[in-house]
Amino acid sequence: MKDEKLKKVVKTIKIDVDKCNGCRACEVICSAIHAAPKYSSNNPARARIRVIRAPLSDIYVPVYSGDYAPAECAGRDKYTIDGKEYDECAFCRASCPSRDEFKEPDSGLPLKCDMCEGEEEPQCVKWCLAEALVLEEREEEVEEGQEQEELEIGLEALARKFGLQNVIDSIDRMSMAKKEE
Ligand code: SF4
Ligand code: SF4
Repeated sequence: MKDEKLKKVVKTIKIDVDKCNGCRACEVICSAIHAAPKYSSNNPARARIRVIRAPLSDIYVPVYSGDYAPAECAGRDKYTIDGKEYDECAFCRASCPSRDEFKEPDSGLPLKCDMCEGEEEPQCVKWCLAEALVLEEREEEVEEGQEQEELEIGLEALARKFGLQNVIDSIDRMSMAKKEE
């Protein structure tokens, strides 16, 4: 039915930059639970959360990876908050060509936070002893088919950048790794 609404739980992680001390436990645990097999390695370069650090300015900004962006944006913003000046890309979640974050180091495929699907709770939240990361959940109504549409948009973007066959091969490898867990 066209107008049918579905309930969807939306998870958000609230970030308190004032509480973050730059320990990077969130990066370590995120990369470890996404290793294949799980916990077999940890490499923050594979994490879906990165902490933008400028210790001399007392700046630590945890950022979750979001969607893949095929091109760099033309204009960028600088923020000054409480006298601290944040880098142009500091708050951006995109996996984009202008930086190395949020790309799988070997394949170059974009990394996106999946809220630790299959785990009881997001592990970065659990391991952040400073309580800089707090999970919030709410219910929202979505149109039937919307999620499928979002998935197809994401797959199309990947196929354009890396070629359909590479995407299919990666999915095959990931599903083999899951089966071996
Ligand atoms: S675990 Fe928490 S305090 Fe440590 S870097 Fe990550 S967000 Fe910051
Ligand atoms: S919620 Fe899970 S997948 Fe997302 S950044 Fe945190 S540990 Fe990584």
